[in-house]
Amino acid sequence: MSEGERYLVVSHVDPDGDAIGSTLAVGHLLRLLGKRAVMVNASPVPAKYRGLPGAEEIARPQDLFDEPPFERVIAVDVADEDRMGDCRTLIAPDARLLNIDHHRTNDRFGTHHLINPEAAATAEVLYDWIESMGVKWSKPLAACVYTGLLTDTGGFRYSNTTPAVMKRAARLLECGVDAHRIAEQVLETLTIGQLNLLRRALSTLRLSEDGRIAWMWLTYQDFVDAGAGEGDLDGIVNYARNVDGAEVGILFRQLKGGAVKVSLRSRRRVDVSEVAGCFGGGGHARAAGCTVAGTRDEVERRVLERVVEALGR
Ligand code: 5GP
Ligand code: MN
Ligand code: MN
Repeated sequence: MSEGERYLVVSHVDPDGDAIGSTLAVGHLLRLLGKRAVMVNASPVPAKYRGLPGAEEIARPQDLFDEPPFERVIAVDVADEDRMGDCRTLIAPDARLLNIDHHRTNDRFGTHHLINPEAAATAEVLYDWIESMGVKWSKPLAACVYTGLLTDTGGFRYSNTTPAVMKRAARLLECGVDAHRIAEQVLETLTIGQLNLLRRALSTLRLSEDGRIAWMWLTYQDFVDAGAGEGDLDGIVNYARNVDGAEVGILFRQLKGGAVKVSLRSRRRVDVSEVAGCFGGGGHARAAGCTVAGTRDEVERRVLERVVEALGR
């Protein structure tokens, strides 16, 4: 990397804490290294992540349409090109693209890759990269990496919470990260839109006969009525997976054009990234997603059939 180069830092649509935390961490890192960083996301930054250092600088693609295409791109937490949404239009066709990720389903769409499917979060991959460069941790850099670790492990509760994650998190606390404040903002605070949406989703909760699958629906109208945005979805699907006895939780969300976005969560038996993969999606063993075309009944039947099959194995 030479001085003064201009980098585009991008993550996936409907960003979670790992997507935002990793975008910001790479932004801070590039600046510490004397580079220019432009951060972008196809979706607005969810309210709970707006307090993170630098979050207000994350642009929308439409803000950058007048800029020349970017020749250097760093994509974080992005398993395939489509997940960048409209941000793809900002990238020059011959761009050098460094793909930093931890999805097993990553299709290696970059020109350079830093992918570790064993990592709990893209933030963990970043942690190791930053350490290997010998860069001194600034507080904002540490806070953003910490946020990715915190959120992708469900607050250090999911099965990806390894000793390595805890050691890295502890090191970040030693760098001055205010863990309590971050946890309060990203885990313990819900927008009213999120609660309104949750109320609507819970009213549709259904269970399979054996109780091993729990699912909920949200329509486009639910978002309008709840006064909610995409960012208010974070965590709702977990309520289905958390039902006692449920092995798989699903949230079906009707999109504007008629297709259905499917979010899948599993406790331990089912690899939901395989289920999502059957419909052109992907993700992780315990959390995955896909978009399926069809009517409400069709999509529900097809997805449930796949999950039943996966449970039977
Ligand atoms: P969520 O259900 O929260 O949208 O996503 C859960 C996980 O699945 C995340 O790791 C996300 O990156 C992945 N994921 C969600 N939707 C898609 C999709 O349409 N395609 C792919 N490849 N991954 C997805
Ligand atoms: Mn993510
Ligand atoms: Mn991630």
